[in-house]
Amino acid sequence: MKNEKLINRRNFLKLGVKAGGGAIALSAIPIQLMGADEVTEAEPLAQAMGYVLDAATVDTAKFPKRAGEAGAKQFCYNCALYAGKPEDELAPCSIFQNRPVRGAGWCNAWVAKS
Ligand code: SF4
Repeated sequence: MKNEKLINRRNFLKLGVKAGGGAIALSAIPIQLMGADEVTEAEPLAQAMGYVLDAATVDTAKFPKRAGEAGAKQFCYNCALYAGKPEDELAPCSIFQNRPVRGAGWCNAWVAKS
């Protein structure tokens, strides 16, 4: 499946060049156009990591890392692994192979931005 995405991306880029592209900065192509689906809570890795779309719904008995005053300030949007701006609703997360996660979400791999 990964090779499939690479081939599709490669073909997409070739088409862009053949069509006289180059006007589009390749870095400006959003990840979503590359076919990456948003991470869902039902996925096995998401469940293992305690990922939720809404950080307010974290079971803090199961994931005490998000308990208390300091824990309540943890969200994907202020995690070091969130590859987006704090105001972005969705952004890629490296834990999930750069698939989009919710800025308002959270998982047990949360790391403070330095
Ligand atoms: S690693 Fe960070 S950005 Fe990724 S899902 Fe977990 S809390 Fe969110």
